[in-house]
Amino acid sequence: MGRIEDISDTEINDRISVLQSTNTLNNWAKTFVATPERIYTPSSVTDLQFIIEAARRSSVRVRAMGVWHSPSDLACCDEWVVIMTRMNSIEEVSITYNSKPTTLTNVQIDKESRTVTVQSGTLLKDMNEALDKNGLAIPILGSISDQTIGGCLATATHGSGYNHRSMSSYVRSLSLLLSSGDIVLCSREQHADLFNASLCSLGATGVMLSVTMDVEEKFNLHEITMPMSFAEYTSSSSAWLDRWQAAPYVKAFWIPQARGISLMQSYKSFEKRIQKPSFSLSATIFSYLLQPLLLIKKYIPGIAPLVSNLAWRYLFSTHQQRIDKSYNVFNMDCGLLQYTTEWAVPMSGAYQCLLDLNDWLVNENDVDFPLEIRISKADDIFLSPANSHTAHKDESHFMWIGLIKYKPYNCRVRYRRIFRTFEDILRKYGGRAHWAKHSTQTPQEVGQKYRDLPKFMDVLNKYDADGMFRNPFIDRHLITEKDDSFRDFKHHQVEAYGF
Ligand SMILES: Cc1cc2nc3c(=O)[nH]c(=O)nc-3n(C[C@H](O)[C@H](O)[C@H](O)COP(=O)(O)OP(=O)(O)OC[C@H]3O[C@@H](n4cnc5c(N)ncnc54)[C@H](O)[C@@H]3O)c2cc1C
Repeated sequence: MGRIEDISDTEINDRISVLQSTNTLNNWAKTFVATPERIYTPSSVTDLQFIIEAARRSSVRVRAMGVWHSPSDLACCDEWVVIMTRMNSIEEVSITYNSKPTTLTNVQIDKESRTVTVQSGTLLKDMNEALDKNGLAIPILGSISDQTIGGCLATATHGSGYNHRSMSSYVRSLSLLLSSGDIVLCSREQHADLFNASLCSLGATGVMLSVTMDVEEKFNLHEITMPMSFAEYTSSSSAWLDRWQAAPYVKAFWIPQARGISLMQSYKSFEKRIQKPSFSLSATIFSYLLQPLLLIKKYIPGIAPLVSNLAWRYLFSTHQQRIDKSYNVFNMDCGLLQYTTEWAVPMSGAYQCLLDLNDWLVNENDVDFPLEIRISKADDIFLSPANSHTAHKDESHFMWIGLIKYKPYNCRVRYRRIFRTFEDILRKYGGRAHWAKHSTQTPQEVGQKYRDLPKFMDVLNKYDADGMFRNPFIDRHLITEKDDSFRDFKHHQVEAYGF
């Protein structure tokens, strides 16, 4: 291929027209639907370069999308959307930034250095299996592995472990297609600010092409589930803190109206034996028992305590153990379609925050269950909600807490009021919202909470001055202050179901 700049508009348009599809898009939870002007599904870096060149010439905005598991409109825009899922194998990438061509190695898994290099559209579940076959594993995962690695890194997706940071913290280097058409390889040593910004880029720094991450020897996890009362779980702040350190991976499911917590501690186990739980009817119970009750609860909220107690009894109150491959234990069945919001709260206020939430939640019939409580170690990624620099002081850890509202049979449900109350409590403790999920954070609020926001904006202004990779979500949360109480859902081509 000659220089792309020398190719005519007609030739470029012909080349990319075959990559176009016309579908309407919706996110996993079916809470958003979008009909962007154009949708592209490239399968090679060259395809993508043509799309970005065409966008640059026509001054349109472009959004890279994984599988749109983000519960918000973060992954969408109304101009051009580029779905990355066909970019899921390794090919050589020429780096063209500053006219210094180098070539990325074509190595997918390097057992010696314990790294994996994948294209950004690769699904986590495919990575998990490929690594497993090579005796390796990702050190931490969130609740599912259906997302693309690019989507996870763009939102600093996290799991739960006292000594583990977000998945983005395990990235050694990544290659990025910029709005200029240049391809740049960045790491802590090369283009360090662009690298940092791209570890929680919200899709705004460029299109991530490939990524090299640290991995480790594969391991099984021995998970022990211990149900207890909320009173016991929070009996003292020191005991509560100790529980987080009792095992490498700890998380908790909280069912406030049943006053119960199911605590899960997972230890590394190099035993080959796989021991499945004795009782795992959760998907069936969710679909056939809880779903109809949740629908009835929509019209008769007074049955909420009964539904919570049934869920506690049949799903969360059993002592259990299992040993399985790490990724099977990290992942779980996330139940029904749902609205969700999740915030990271500095650990110094997290215990009191839980007590405050409890005062509200025990009498709140509109909230569903479980609230997932997790932990991660602080990091230094500019826009990571677990960035150690908070408005007041430096923090070593963050507690993540998520609230959900199910959509039984995909029907409309009310959720805004409870999400706002939840957010107000978390704000009192310096909480910061997970970028992929619902929130009403304004640019002013983000500016106050993220000391490194100016560094992130400098990167955007340097590498994407014309804003090719911005979308309504970025405008709303990072750039334009608007007097708008329903901030989540304002763009005419990105609509939200629910009310
Ligand atoms: C059931 C469920 C469980 C979840 N569990 C967790 C969890 O345990 N922990 C957690 O932290 N999160 C969790 N999430 C959130 C999820 O990890 C993020 O929303 C993630 O971004 C989804 O990946 P995706 O491939 O769907 O990306 P999308 O939702 O499609 O996109 C997300 C962002 O990534 C950007 N992006 C995608 N690909 C690229 C690329 N190649 N280059 C540049 N930008 C790109 C998009 O522009 C967008 O800004 C969960 C979501 C669901 C639905």
